[in-house]
Amino acid sequence: MAKALIIGAGGVASVAVHKCVQNSEVFEEICIASRTKSKCDALKEKLDGQGCKISTAKVDANNVEELIALIEDFNPDIVINLALPYQDLTIMDACLATKTHYLDTANYEPEDTAKFEYKWQWEYREKFEKAGITAILGSGFDPGVTGVFSAYAQKHYFDEIHQIDILDCNAGDHGYPFATNFNPEINIREVSAKGSYWEDGHWVETEPMEIKKVYDFPQVGPRDMYLLHHEEIESLALNIKGIQRIRFFMTFGQSYLTHLKCLENVGMTSIEPIMFEGKEIIPLQFLKAVLPDPASLGPRTKGKTNIGCIYQGVKDGKPVNYYVYNVCDHEECYKEVGSQAVSYTTGVPAMIGAMLVVNGTWNKPGVHNVEELDPDAFMEALNQWGLPWVEDFNPTLVQD
Ligand code: NDP
Repeated sequence: MAKALIIGAGGVASVAVHKCVQNSEVFEEICIASRTKSKCDALKEKLDGQGCKISTAKVDANNVEELIALIEDFNPDIVINLALPYQDLTIMDACLATKTHYLDTANYEPEDTAKFEYKWQWEYREKFEKAGITAILGSGFDPGVTGVFSAYAQKHYFDEIHQIDILDCNAGDHGYPFATNFNPEINIREVSAKGSYWEDGHWVETEPMEIKKVYDFPQVGPRDMYLLHHEEIESLALNIKGIQRIRFFMTFGQSYLTHLKCLENVGMTSIEPIMFEGKEIIPLQFLKAVLPDPASLGPRTKGKTNIGCIYQGVKDGKPVNYYVYNVCDHEECYKEVGSQAVSYTTGVPAMIGAMLVVNGTWNKPGVHNVEELDPDAFMEALNQWGLPWVEDFNPTLVQD
């Protein structure tokens, strides 16, 4: 029986909280702590008495001292960081100071530069190892399940994986002309950045949205998808032996792209501060304030997501192609936990990763990306906790 401190009370945290409550055999007690305490209290009110014991707290996760005080007071076995990527390092510092396990779903990104990479968090490896505590980086869907799928493919079906295409399709329709499915600031920073992929030992950079393909997604149908830079490419390039190329594609509808281009053209997606009526504001943060809250999309979103990976490589000298994916239905997710599928597909793997750390399966001192750990228990838990996966040994490949 374990205690978990969940930091953040947004779309993803809400799903993780629901799943911890469902899994009260493992999570005996949780504390939900965030900047806006009323959101934590609302979750507690909804779920109290349905599983584990719930408490709430207010915390500024940019402040290490506040975090340490909260961890010392609640004394959790693990901290599940579901705030924003800006808070990763302060929360890791607090975990080190209190010798508490750590898990997140997105890698650290400095607030003033739209550049996410693992180097800052990988610098904590030795410190976590020495302290005897485990940090699991990127235990959402992508990164997260995509890394577990890769470890599973490597372990069971390949001697060498040569190519990976990660395909993230959201065919959900929320009825708004423009909205983002998770935190708008993080989402827009991600899609307006240059694209890149890994080939023959180095990064190849592309202009934003330069490479477009069409793919016929199982249970969804044909969709336009675009090559993006994505954080798991960086760790998979190191952890999958023999890898030659890794690409990441995400689907976008024409309306989303037209709105985004227009917002970019007028300067609304910039993270450079500007003066407005005597006050400094960041255009992208202002934009976030006027866009629909991702949490409010839940009741309106219809359709499915399909996220998975296509692997090409060799086993026993013979070529092998393997596609593994999950399909999630927005309305079914909403019925179960009151959130749409993008939050659901991230919050469920966060709970599973935390469960494996606290039950000892993934308790390995140091800082690890998910594909470094044994995938089998995680794969089994995906089927059990709402994200069943499908295998295809004769998939349609992405055309070059
Ligand atoms: P939301 O914006 O809905 O939620 C973020 C939460 O963090 C809010 O409750 C917010 O509080 C809280 N927060 C922000 N800053 C602080 C702070 N300084 N101290 C304490 N709490 C803070 O985001 P999502 O739930 O959509 O996303 C959560 C994380 O999941 C992000 O890091 C995102 O990048 C990641 N993600 C990962 C995916 C994956 O597949 N790996 C996919 C989707 C998301 P407040 O309510 O006051 O704003």
